[in-house]
This record gives sequence, structure tokens and C-alpha cells, in this order.
Amino acid sequence: MIQKISHIGIAVNKLDEQIPFYRDVLQLQFLGIEEVAEQKVRVAMFNVGDVHVELLEPTNPESPIAKFIEKKGQGIHHIAYQVDSAKATISDLKAKNIQMIDNEPRQGANGMQIAFIHPKATLGVLTELCQPGECGHK
Ligand code: ZN
Repeated sequence: MIQKISHIGIAVNKLDEQIPFYRDVLQLQFLGIEEVAEQKVRVAMFNVGDVHVELLEPTNPESPIAKFIEKKGQGIHHIAYQVDSAKATISDLKAKNIQMIDNEPRQGANGMQIAFIHPKATLGVLTELCQPGECGHK
């Protein structure tokens, strides 16, 4: 079941160049930077009203974020919905004939279990499901 918007992911070339806008101009609460090796990204996280804004910087030209920026430029990359169970939500969507990128949850930033819905099913809006990790971090 979908509970709320978890975060909005924004693809950027350089975290260092974009962090000051979100931290100092918009004055969102800066939560820090985490590297997600599996997805070849560094993630800068901000909190606003219990929703996160995540800036995603590729760490490698093979990173999906690098490929996204190459094709579409910097900007909104995905919307993520928080779910109580990623596995159950995947099964539910598949039962409704929705095409998934991930048929099984995988590890995301913040200890979350994540899965992406195929953009073909969402008018090209890359949509992520995420289930908070055991640390209780949202
Ligand atoms: Zn995400």
C-alpha cells in the first residue's frame, strides 16, 4: 500500500554545485551525503515536511544517472512513493499487468528496499517504490 511521497530524485552533474541552492537559498534541512555503490551515485539528501529531496550525482559514466543526464539533461529523475511492503506492492502491480523494471526489491539509499515501475506504464515518469529500512529512517 502506498503511504506518502517519500522523495523526489533530481539528477545533477555535481552535488557541490547544487547543494548551496537547496541548503542555503531554499534553506531545506540538509541530511548529508551517501554513496550508493550499486547504482553508481552519490546522493545528497534534504528534508522538507517529512519528504526528501535527493540530488543524484553519477560517480561513473556507466551510472544510470549519467545516461539520463546525457539523454535528457539535468532535472527531475524520479518520484518515489513510500510503501509498507515493496514485495507486496510489486506483486499487486504485476497482478494488474503493470510492467516493472524490478521484479524483486533491491537495496537503495538509507537502507531502503526499492523497486522501479517501468516508465512505459507511467507516461515516462520514472516511479520508485520504497520501503523504509530497519533503521526506521524515512
Ligand atoms: Zn529514489
